[in-house]
Amino acid sequence: MAADAGLKGTGSNPRTFRGNPVLLALFAHPDDEAFRCGGTLALLAQRGVSVHILAFTRGQAGSCGQPPLCTREDLGAVRTAELQCSCQALGLEPPHVLDYEDGGLSEVDPGEGAAIVAAHIRAFCPQILLTWPLHGLSGHPDHIAVSRWALTAFEQARNSGNNALSALYHLAVPDAIARELGLKQLHTLPDHEETVAVDVQRVWDQKLAAIACHRTQMGESPILTAHLLKPGTFLPVCLPLHA
Ligand SMILES: [Zn+2]
Repeated sequence: MAADAGLKGTGSNPRTFRGNPVLLALFAHPDDEAFRCGGTLALLAQRGVSVHILAFTRGQAGSCGQPPLCTREDLGAVRTAELQCSCQALGLEPPHVLDYEDGGLSEVDPGEGAAIVAAHIRAFCPQILLTWPLHGLSGHPDHIAVSRWALTAFEQARNSGNNALSALYHLAVPDAIARELGLKQLHTLPDHEETVAVDVQRVWDQKLAAIACHRTQMGESPILTAHLLKPGTFLPVCLPLHA
């Protein structure tokens, strides 16, 4: 295992952020960035934050679309392009995509996963990490694995004197939003436990444009009808574990 192997995916050259604040978002699959936190990321980018997405897989095990838009063989490349489209729609840096097996992250040596996160922390010098909560929100084993690696790398960075890295945030869906959107089978958060809520109404169209990039994954997401929510509804909510 080589820690720097994590930097070999597609994406921009490290250290291109020219002094802007940096957020590094750690995900398992193309589309993780759009459905849950696309609005928050777009708002941050608008305010001058360099937002880097690291996806550990190309989503090769996902749906090819209904009807199929590509062969299963091509799905990884198609979904990588969808992620690039989504990042562009949200105003983010080009994404960094690794070639781990979709659905296989729980089998990866946790030390290797954490080392890859650590390598990206060294490369991009983020102030903030954002990832899935430790239960993965949907419970997806890939999300859980990435969340654990992020926490390990965060703690190691802080313990080794990286004081520039100030917080690790977890995506969260509070009970009230889950009820309103009819989101089921998620590990939701009791409303009183939410700590940061971001009103993304202003960038809602950008979020929908990012979601639309993921043509193979569109399906029936309740997010697509979320404009029916009353104005002022806060979506999504992030939970800082360590700040
Ligand atoms: Zn995912």
